[in-house]
Amino acid sequence: MAKPLNVLFVASEVEPFAKTGGLADVSGALPQTIKQMDHEIRVIMPRYGSINERKSRLHEMIRLKDIEIPIGSKRYPASIKSSFIINNHTKVQVYFVDNEHLFGRPGLYVDADTRKDYPDNDERFIFFCRGTLEVLKRLGWQPDIIHCNDWQSGLIPAYLKTLYRDDPFYKDTRTVFTIHNMAYQGIFPKSSFPKTGLPPELMSDKGVEMHGNVNLLKAGLVFADAITTVSEKYAEEIRTSEEYGCGLQDIVKKRKSDLTGIVNGIDYTVWDPSVDPLIPHRFDSRSVDLKLEDKKALLARMGLPFNEKTPVIGIISRLADQKGFDLIGEVLDDMMKLNVQLIILGTGEKRYHDLFEKAARKYPQKIAVSLTFDNDLAHLIEAGSDMFLMPSRYEPCGLNQLYSLRYGTVPVVRATGGLDDTIDDYSPSTGNGTGFKFKRYDSGDMLHAIRRAVQTYADQNVWRKLMKNGMAKDFSWETSARKYLQLYRNLVKN
Ligand code: ADP
Repeated sequence: MAKPLNVLFVASEVEPFAKTGGLADVSGALPQTIKQMDHEIRVIMPRYGSINERKSRLHEMIRLKDIEIPIGSKRYPASIKSSFIINNHTKVQVYFVDNEHLFGRPGLYVDADTRKDYPDNDERFIFFCRGTLEVLKRLGWQPDIIHCNDWQSGLIPAYLKTLYRDDPFYKDTRTVFTIHNMAYQGIFPKSSFPKTGLPPELMSDKGVEMHGNVNLLKAGLVFADAITTVSEKYAEEIRTSEEYGCGLQDIVKKRKSDLTGIVNGIDYTVWDPSVDPLIPHRFDSRSVDLKLEDKKALLARMGLPFNEKTPVIGIISRLADQKGFDLIGEVLDDMMKLNVQLIILGTGEKRYHDLFEKAARKYPQKIAVSLTFDNDLAHLIEAGSDMFLMPSRYEPCGLNQLYSLRYGTVPVVRATGGLDDTIDDYSPSTGNGTGFKFKRYDSGDMLHAIRRAVQTYADQNVWRKLMKNGMAKDFSWETSARKYLQLYRNLVKN
């Protein structure tokens, strides 16, 4: 039998400690599945001020009190704390790199008051990357693979190929870099470069420079031994189109042979209506009638009237351009002429807050919004809605459409990235399919897909079949975790 691997999983957000989006779900779940396959995997993340030490059971690692991390001419002390992700009888160790000055504040990346990125995000994540590599050495725990995620850990592959190239500790370590979203690149001015401590020749085309700036996503793309992204379709999109590649498409194209698309899985211990403790009525595909009770609870919670014949469309999302809500703005009045109710949970850009607040005022019987981040409500929306709308401009993978399938909530999605890979368009003639798709980024096309869904809903026998098609799909992590393991193995061999 092949020897078990040592893997370090590096992420800037990890469930249940800190989350702004899908990366946290992945970081909380994928390492557990890999651990269940008998490999040693540990996770490392920053210790944000929002992480409650007592609730999250963080403890100081006595042996590793203070490490000094250089950032340009300054030196910042790092201390290390530790805790576990515990689920399904599996315990994955999580390290927290801590520096009060850099991370002792509530936000992950953005200042809640100004709604702007923290001005020292460069120093914060340079510190995180160098800190990670120093911590491992102090721990004496030698990883075969360091699996980095998104720009926040993009410098690690660059450091390993330069500053740590001759370090015997990292001689056999290989890196994987996963892109969860190409649009977030970690771009900083040229003046940030000396803070990285990288050799000057890296401030060039061949290194981390992009249009005169430092680009930390590019660092990962150029220097990692292998690159992955979270669906096959998105892997193709980011190397063939400027829009999806967000200016880095040529860099991705150059690394085509090292790029793999591996779709995200779902943690069914958390997102399954038959075991979900956060919903009032549990159900599975044999007891879908109970979903109606969750619908009643959802509507009551949101202050909307209940009508069995009116489908409820749910939305749970960051309210960002990526998610396609301008399409809803364009055809809201037409949408409201249909027999539907709309429930929106999300936070983000002010203009979408304004759009949805205004819409709820205009249609108080049909639209309800909650402009917060509320995990309990997210579960109730998945359980109580009939349809789930994701009209994304682009979507690397998307998780909510996968949760929706399991909850019998039929997705209406734009055919892009992971949405295209995971949802099959419903065909009335064969009865096959799991949702409703539209191709062009166009509000009329979206409306047409919603209309098709509403018409189909009117025949409850057909609708039930459609719900069950989705509920029968299996997007558990095992298949994807095996693909990551295969990739790790291939790298370790070389
Ligand atoms: P992205 O990573 O682009 O934000 P994903 O669909 O991959 O999109 O993942 C989003 C995750 O964040 C899902 O688990 C979703 O339920 C959750 N989420 C997003 N917004 C909210 C919110 N306002 N309240 C609760 N959960 C949210």
